[in-house]
Amino acid sequence: YSNKMELKFLSKSQNESFARTVIAAFAAQLDPTIEEIADIKTAVSEAVTNSILHGYENTIGDIILKSEIDGNKIYIEVIDYGKGIDDIKKAMEPLYTSKPDEDRSGMGFTVMQTFMDELEVESTPGKGTTVKMIK
Ligand code: ATP
Ligand code: MG
Repeated sequence: YSNKMELKFLSKSQNESFARTVIAAFAAQLDPTIEEIADIKTAVSEAVTNSILHGYENTIGDIILKSEIDGNKIYIEVIDYGKGIDDIKKAMEPLYTSKPDEDRSGMGFTVMQTFMDELEVESTPGKGTTVKMIK
């Protein structure tokens, strides 16, 4: 890699925009287009929102945002130590949400998949979730 960063913040809703701003500032080194920056911000925002709403279910815990730049690629990880995901395959299906009554549309992972080149989800129930993305 040619550069990397790591950031830890609490699972508070104010930190969705904080994480978006940080990743945009870091990704600026790639000399990205406006559209690429928008895609990366949106994907990170979806992952962080998921950690806050689903991982920690609005309790307070740590979220880690890691990123590496290598050549013209950016690698991003969003990590939480929340409740984890039982069935990752099902969770990643378009329109699947475990919270249909809370106005969620079940499109977060689909958005991440669409806006980034690669998406990988690792999760252990009771231990937490790591979302890895590459663009
Ligand atoms: P939307 O993102 O459209 O508001 P959503 O968050 O329910 O709705 P996705 O982001 O696609 O949809 O996530 C699908 C499901 O995966 C969630 O409903 C939740 O059950 C589970 N999930 C996602 N991220 C996490 C996480 N970090 N920890 C635990 N469960 C998660
Ligand atoms: Mg979501």
